[in-house]
Amino acid sequence: MAPHKSLGLSPELYDYLLSVSLREPEILAQLRAETQQHSAGQMQVTPEQGQFLAFLVKLIGAERTLDIGVFTGYSSLAVALALPPTGQVIACDQDPDITQVAQRYWQAAGVADRIQLHLAPALETLTHLLSTGQANSFDFAFIDADKGNYFNYYEQCLQLLRPGGLIAIDNVLWAGQVVNPNNKRPTVEAIRDFNAKLYQDDRIDLSLVPISDGLTLARKRSP
Ligand code: CA
Repeated sequence: MAPHKSLGLSPELYDYLLSVSLREPEILAQLRAETQQHSAGQMQVTPEQGQFLAFLVKLIGAERTLDIGVFTGYSSLAVALALPPTGQVIACDQDPDITQVAQRYWQAAGVADRIQLHLAPALETLTHLLSTGQANSFDFAFIDADKGNYFNYYEQCLQLLRPGGLIAIDNVLWAGQVVNPNNKRPTVEAIRDFNAKLYQDDRIDLSLVPISDGLTLARKRSP
């Protein structure tokens, strides 16, 4: 059982949802189990969310993808397994230690050649991709990193995406704290501000899906 269920579902209903829909590959289950031993283990995406990302990637026929915030590599791996052999994940994270776990599992799953890890601030990596002429060339992006930079990541990913491409952004309901008026912590305020900005952004089609901790889907419209 996952410790971090989708918001608003009773434990019984969550277990039922998993029992009739979760098809988690064994390698991802192993990675999830190992990550739960880590002190920040609750940060990893839930299995039904990983499956949903893989579903979206297949649905839009994605080949080039971005993963902002790698941690132990669950989302990168879920996406990489859903890509065709020619597919690519540009994985961005600053932490050389935790991403060693990620790289070990990418190797074990046989998809390490599809995932390029960039150990640097993600904004630097994204700026570099833009400055080397890669705007409008990505199909999919998953943003799950420091919330204070969410809008900056989103802006750059939006430029890197082709029209019709999709950005998925995690933790946009922040355990329900977005509607707690007494919670004025910078992270919560950053998420509220981010959600409000996307609501007004007519460059995208928008859907906020209450899976896991809240996942916003932003589809880039044609100019
Ligand atoms: Ca997350």
